[in-house]
Amino acid sequence: GAGPGDPGLITVRGLELLRTCDVVLYDRLVAAELLAEVKADAERIFVGKNPGQTHSRQLVSDALLVSKASEGKSVVRLKGGDPFVFGRGAEEAALLRASSIPFEIVPGVTSATAVPAYAGIPVTHRGLSASFVVLTAREEGGDADPDVSKLSVGAETLVLLMGVAALEKIARRLIESGRDPQEPAATIEWGTTGKQKVVVGELDTIAEKAAASGIRPPATTIVGPVVSLRDSLTWFEDRPLFGRTVAVTRPPQGSRELTTRLSRLGADVVSLPLIDIAEPDSWAAADEALAKLSDYSWVVFASMHAVAKTFARLRSLELDARAFAHTKIACVGERTRHELAHHGLSADLVPERFTSAEMVAGLGDGLGRVLFPRVQDGPPEPVTALTEHGWQVDDVAVYSNIPGKPDPTNLQRWVDGDVDIVTFTSASTVTNLAAVAGHPGSSPLVVCIGPSTERAAREAGLDVAAVAEPHDTGGLVDAVLHAARSMQS
Ligand code: SAH
Repeated sequence: GAGPGDPGLITVRGLELLRTCDVVLYDRLVAAELLAEVKADAERIFVGKNPGQTHSRQLVSDALLVSKASEGKSVVRLKGGDPFVFGRGAEEAALLRASSIPFEIVPGVTSATAVPAYAGIPVTHRGLSASFVVLTAREEGGDADPDVSKLSVGAETLVLLMGVAALEKIARRLIESGRDPQEPAATIEWGTTGKQKVVVGELDTIAEKAAASGIRPPATTIVGPVVSLRDSLTWFEDRPLFGRTVAVTRPPQGSRELTTRLSRLGADVVSLPLIDIAEPDSWAAADEALAKLSDYSWVVFASMHAVAKTFARLRSLELDARAFAHTKIACVGERTRHELAHHGLSADLVPERFTSAEMVAGLGDGLGRVLFPRVQDGPPEPVTALTEHGWQVDDVAVYSNIPGKPDPTNLQRWVDGDVDIVTFTSASTVTNLAAVAGHPGSSPLVVCIGPSTERAAREAGLDVAAVAEPHDTGGLVDAVLHAARSMQS
């Protein structure tokens, strides 16, 4: 079970298996952030059904489940919510049993209770509701028309899944079978995510109101007196970035912290990577330098990617962190320091601000050699500044920036003008904008991480709404909050 949408709602056991599996077979409603947890070399296979697609891919999915497991691989079948709540989990488990493949069921947080909870609606409440029934308006893959009337009488709270198209018919049946037409009801689309949309009405008006508001699947409808508690219990929608769509243009490898922090503030985060990280054209210079690291007085890392790529390369040269034993290390920025710590080393110097001048001041004047493993064709200023202070600098490429490849759905949202705020985290994200994403369908507010990014944005003809201070992820999040406050609601 992947949980209902918010990636934080997967269970500890679920996450553990996801991080260690060889293959993940996943459905449409599974959060992209969860797929990012899977090992880089694991297979990610979409086996879901897109809306509008009439035939289910169940057979394909079943066949893959059995064949991948039979190869001896550890397979995660990741399903939205709980696998045993309208999830076909039991059918797939039976199939595995028939094929003598061992399995484990990891329950999930079901949308039946979590989606109402994120809308401020408890499914039970002392004095208001002592029972709840979860029903489906439509059985997935089948034409069965569940008999809602027999369930509707006893339970105080009704939770209706998969029922957007049938909502009117179901509401009518519920009223015919004795439920009060004036009973409070709410329909919640994309609950627990930044796209959450809630429509409140009464049993006899909810279908019409949901249709008028353009509610589409996935949506959950809840009927009963507990719906009125929403007035005092709303919480998720009160977050400062709720209702705002924020684009993150960083490469996917380095965007997790920013994405998580924006999501926690309620934003609907659209991943729109405008740059990606690739191998440099040649490793020759880097390899030569890495083989004789003790010749350098300092190694300067200016980005987390520089650290990650340098260590990956060291490993492939059958070296490890001990190669840095005689060398001091400077890191520009907290993320860079953090990545270094991840490899077991602490930085000797982390300049307060990300400027060449500050870094040179930290290193002081010197006669020795400095290794600067960084992006291919990086800006010349830091190298010039170090050279002017007497250092002999080896500027070697350990990665290159290439244009990003955003997911087509997210790209469409950009083109449709469905982005309120766009964050730029380097000058190259700005310069790649036109080529990778094209013009936005509206004019989103522009937020930049620092002065050189801001300059690039202004040169590209963009108005800059806010610049991060300090020039790091925390500062960027504050700048997004600032920009969001400046928007009319
Ligand atoms: N196994 C899942 C349910 C699968 S049926 C679970 O336990 O949650 C799919 C239905 O679940 C959707 O049609 C919708 O009614 C509901 N649903 C799933 N995710 C949802 C979400 N984020 N917001 C609202 N409803 C959701």
